[in-house]
Amino acid sequence: YAKHDGKNRYAVFRAEMEQRAQRRMRIEANLRRALQNDELYLHYQPQIDLRSGRLVGVEALIRWNCRELGPLTPDEFIPVAEESGVIIELGRWVLQSACRQAASWCKAGLLDSLEHVAVNLSACQAREPGLMDDIRAILEETQLPHGLLELEITEGVMMDNVHANVELMRRLQEAGIHLSIDDFGTGYSSMSYLKRLPIDQLKIDRSFVHDLPGEGEAIITAIIAMAHSLNLKVVAEGVETPQQVEFLRQAGCDNVQGYFFARPMTAAQLTALLLERRDWSRRTVMALGDGA
Ligand code: C2E
Ligand code: MG
Ligand code: MG
Ligand code: MG
Repeated sequence: YAKHDGKNRYAVFRAEMEQRAQRRMRIEANLRRALQNDELYLHYQPQIDLRSGRLVGVEALIRWNCRELGPLTPDEFIPVAEESGVIIELGRWVLQSACRQAASWCKAGLLDSLEHVAVNLSACQAREPGLMDDIRAILEETQLPHGLLELEITEGVMMDNVHANVELMRRLQEAGIHLSIDDFGTGYSSMSYLKRLPIDQLKIDRSFVHDLPGEGEAIITAIIAMAHSLNLKVVAEGVETPQQVEFLRQAGCDNVQGYFFARPMTAAQLTALLLERRDWSRRTVMALGDGA
């Protein structure tokens, strides 16, 4: 019986593996077409300065409504894009689209109070020798002020090949582009490395914010103290509750990003929001008052 059972379990395991492999293959096949067919678009999520209650930036996040498979999350298709190499073309598309959009907001005078539009950089893009040329060409084409572009590189990717990445980051910094370390706290960077990196800001990983109030407190307090001692700004990701906002405010966190303030939204929705010139500190007070 035991032997039989083992065989069955193996069969189930194999079937699952095959299903997963097939889904990946379909995602990959669709992804190549999606780039040509306008199935991809960007959402933008606001980042708010906790002290002034003003919008300081937005992060561009890719979205895909696949014709065959329906809406897919970046967590599912970005790894496929990386393994298949499609990420290079896709990453270029994201940079170009975000810079074009930002330049048009900029020309309309809507980015006056904004410090940056952030774009995520994948591991493969960071390794691609043509990246700097691509970025230069895109900035040239769009006429976006270089200082408005911020690139997010995850701590894991950063630490994977520190020497090559420091080299790349220096060149980006020389070009006036801002850099932030995404998902910070999940990797293994030491303070001595951070000190040498040409970066502007750390983004505290949302898993720590999720553990607020409670276990996340010590880690977040430590990250903020370390970042500030190195003259870096700190953004907390995944802020969902007024209690989290209150803790982060008292801990001296500079900026926040999360569903509590705003979900990622379409370019048109963000345009409306930029026109509104909202004071976000009211949102906090109201939400606290409502006991939300
Ligand atoms: P990330 O760069 O850390 O982006 C933050 C993620 O947290 C986004 O997920 C965002 O929608 C989500 N988020 C924001 N606020 C909250 C909140 O309050 N609660 C919760 N639970 N989640 C929140 P999304 O858009 O699904 O993207 C997931 C990841 O996929 C990103 O993580 C990034 O690593 C990658 N990604 C997204 N767009 C791109 C892109 O254009 N290029 C590359 N290379 N990677 C991308
Ligand atoms: Mg910046
Ligand atoms: Mg990011
Ligand atoms: Mg992140």
